[in-house]
Amino acid sequence: MKRIAILGSTGSIGTQALEVIAANPDKFEVEVLTANSNATLLIEQAKKFKPNAVVIADEKKHQDVKTALSSLPIKVFTGNASLNEVVQWSTVDIVLGALVGYAGLHSIVAAIDAGKRIALANKETLVVAGELVMQKAKQKGVPVIPVDSEHSAIFQCLEGEGTKYIEKVILTASGGPFLGKKPNYLVNVKASHALQHPNWVMGAKITIDSATLMNKGLEMIEAKWLFDLKNDQIDVVIHPQSIIHSMVEFIDGSVKSQMGIPDMKLPIQYALSYPERIKSNFKRLDFKEHSKLTFEMPDYKTFRNLQLAKDAMEKGGNHPCIMNAANEVVVASFLSNRVGFMEMSDMIEKTMAAVSYIQHPTLEDYVQTDKEARIKVAEFLKHSQLSS
Ligand code: NAD
Ligand code: MG
Repeated sequence: MKRIAILGSTGSIGTQALEVIAANPDKFEVEVLTANSNATLLIEQAKKFKPNAVVIADEKKHQDVKTALSSLPIKVFTGNASLNEVVQWSTVDIVLGALVGYAGLHSIVAAIDAGKRIALANKETLVVAGELVMQKAKQKGVPVIPVDSEHSAIFQCLEGEGTKYIEKVILTASGGPFLGKKPNYLVNVKASHALQHPNWVMGAKITIDSATLMNKGLEMIEAKWLFDLKNDQIDVVIHPQSIIHSMVEFIDGSVKSQMGIPDMKLPIQYALSYPERIKSNFKRLDFKEHSKLTFEMPDYKTFRNLQLAKDAMEKGGNHPCIMNAANEVVVASFLSNRVGFMEMSDMIEKTMAAVSYIQHPTLEDYVQTDKEARIKVAEFLKHSQLSS
């Protein structure tokens, strides 16, 4: 029986993880559930899964959750400090990082410090501080198992292979809802349109990142640190059907891929059960229904975020952290129609040029960089065409 702490249990990944756990009560048990501010869903989940503790980050909701769970033996905490404490409990075997954004970094670091196995969906943690996080994990002998579908695919392709045999990894990207579109079309798109992803239903932030291709940029950096790759070993190919989840090309020219119907429950379950596989009733891939798998090169000129992420990866140091912070802020602004789709890349680029570069950042440097970048990008946003 593996006891799991889910950071971000009310989100897209969190709720799907709970479905996986509910389907395998003999294998998994919920030890901790956490949410930002969705108290109603957190309470409902706590009543169903009876964890030892819940954390609601939003302090204003603390009393509501406490009152609702008062008749149950469930501890109720609030605030970010509690998040970093509960992941270290001896009763936790696996920490599933399903928070969105930079907010996930410190609790993942705390969990690694306590020697917990990590199932990681929160890619921003590796984008911001991948070198430091993976170094810590190595020192502690802690496995970091990817949940992101592309990285789970690569991880599965690498089972039984030495990393020294990797020539490159090829991340597949659906291309998102605006595949093939050009700037003259994209200047006018609104959040409601960008939120319609063709193949996946996900949280709002990653859905916008998929529309701008920033998601694939973040995933390049995520792959670099997870699999200890050089920058030129990471390629991206557009594959609109999302059946091939990613590929590894080996030094002898052989290419392995992992395929399946787009369903995040599969990589979530694999990350929790690894190195075992669990029988599932997930929909099977029927090749008769998918007679055509196509591939094309990404349009780096139109979807500039992908190029910006590549630049940030190549520059290294705190650059990916700057880019990530700027991106989180502009995506939130885009979601509330305060900045245009194409403008987002301009704001990120300006922020990357404005925040001072640190080649070998410490954890504290990342905290400062994230703060500074958010202040800078907020200044640039004031001059956005859409801001009032
Ligand atoms: P989501 O917005 O649906 O859920 C985010 C969860 O984190 C919620 O439970 C929310 O309450 C919690 N949260 C957010 N901010 C917080 C804060 N400041 N403090 C504490 N808790 C906070 O997001 P999601 O789509 O589930 O994505 C989660 C992560 O997984 C992201 O990093 C995303 O890139 C990654 N990911 C998601 C998918 C997917 O299919 N949804 C696929 C691959 C990777
Ligand atoms: Mg992905």
